[in-house]
Amino acid sequence: MFGRTFPALECAACILTPKMVAASQHDRIKLLTNSELVQVLGKAGSYRARILKKARYVDEKGCVACGLCSEACPVTVPSAFDAGITTRKAIYLPFQQAVPNSFLVDAANCLYQTNQTCGACARKCPNGCVNLDEKDEVIEIAVGSIVMATGYDVLDVHKIGRYGYGKHPNVLTALEFERLTNDSGPTGGRIVCRTQKFSGSAMPAEWTFNPLGVSPRRIAIIHCVGSRDANHNRYCSQVCCMYSLKFAHLVKEKLPDAVCYEFYIDLRAFGKGYEEFAERIRQEGTFMVRGRSTSVTESGNGLVIRGEDIMSDRLRISGRYGSAGYWSDSGARERRTEQNSGHRLRCGRVVYGA
Ligand SMILES: Cc1cc2nc3c(=O)[nH]c(=O)nc-3n(C[C@H](O)[C@H](O)[C@H](O)COP(=O)(O)OP(=O)(O)OC[C@H]3O[C@@H](n4cnc5c(N)ncnc54)[C@H](O)[C@@H]3O)c2cc1C
Ligand code: SF4
Ligand code: SF4
Repeated sequence: MFGRTFPALECAACILTPKMVAASQHDRIKLLTNSELVQVLGKAGSYRARILKKARYVDEKGCVACGLCSEACPVTVPSAFDAGITTRKAIYLPFQQAVPNSFLVDAANCLYQTNQTCGACARKCPNGCVNLDEKDEVIEIAVGSIVMATGYDVLDVHKIGRYGYGKHPNVLTALEFERLTNDSGPTGGRIVCRTQKFSGSAMPAEWTFNPLGVSPRRIAIIHCVGSRDANHNRYCSQVCCMYSLKFAHLVKEKLPDAVCYEFYIDLRAFGKGYEEFAERIRQEGTFMVRGRSTSVTESGNGLVIRGEDIMSDRLRISGRYGSAGYWSDSGARERRTEQNSGHRLRCGRVVYGA
């Protein structure tokens, strides 16, 4: 999902995809994809792991990833890989470099699985590799040791109503912003505002990212959304400071004339090369604002972010459009402007990330 990674701005796909292919081809590694560890029995040295192998409904060895099944599929749902900012079909390839490079059916949305209707994909596949009657199976394997690497889960930002996620189309989560800035993402890496697409029919206009759309002039990034917060997660995510700084760098690289603000409560740049990376972002001209941001609202001409700036005084930012955001320190020059104008900053578009 990621384009470039902090702190060295390396290409994530270049690091990960050769390793995924190597793991899948290694004669002593058995890769179980679309599978979930459901139970562990036994003791150290002699565990029995129960694994739910979910039905793929596509023979992964026969599938040549031609995509004809997907073209025939009538169901369109938000793409999890694109963090919901684009859509995919109910039969789909999870992402371009997926291992195995084979399509699969999303049973929850497939009409055959839910209503016993359709079957268009099976009829269309030239290799006869779609089997819509395949069943899940539970397998048990004997293992000596287990490495747990179950990772993170994302917070549902709808729970924090004051930032207007889901209400203001240009307030985005971090993962949505990742996909927007990704060179292989839906806009080819162009940072644009979400705009309304009218279909001409009676259907309501859709909010989409048009690769040729208008770019934001001001972007705000909010750290710690739902973290270190007694109402949500008390702990620190340990990654949002750094990926927020990475976003500021990408904004400056892709939109050199845009103004970027980061709102943070503490800057936790604790790893190797992290402090240097934070300093680099300051040097690139991102304004860092220290304090809790309290709300994102719509005004006549755009979004307004309210928050405190504990290094100086209260802060109010306003603008014409919004997108998604993360925040850190505000530069002295901008802070003076803000004080001169009664704690109000003009904001062309605002980006909020969680
Ligand atoms: C927006 C964003 C940007 C980021 N940018 C960067 C960056 O630039 N640089 C950087 O170094 N880090 C970055 N990070 C942090 C980085 O993504 C994580 O630290 C990293 O993904 C953690 O890897 P992981 O393998 O431990 O967990 P994950 O990537 O979360 O993978 C865990 C996997 O385990 C699977 N799983 C969970 N439970 C089970 C089960 N019971 N059975 C089978 N499988 C299961 C999950 O489905 C998942 O695929 C970013 C994070 C976010 C959210
Ligand atoms: S059977 Fe399911 S996956 Fe196949 S085309 Fe119909 S809805 Fe799509
Ligand atoms: S039509 Fe068949 S071979 Fe082509 S991608 Fe779909 S399942 Fe794979």
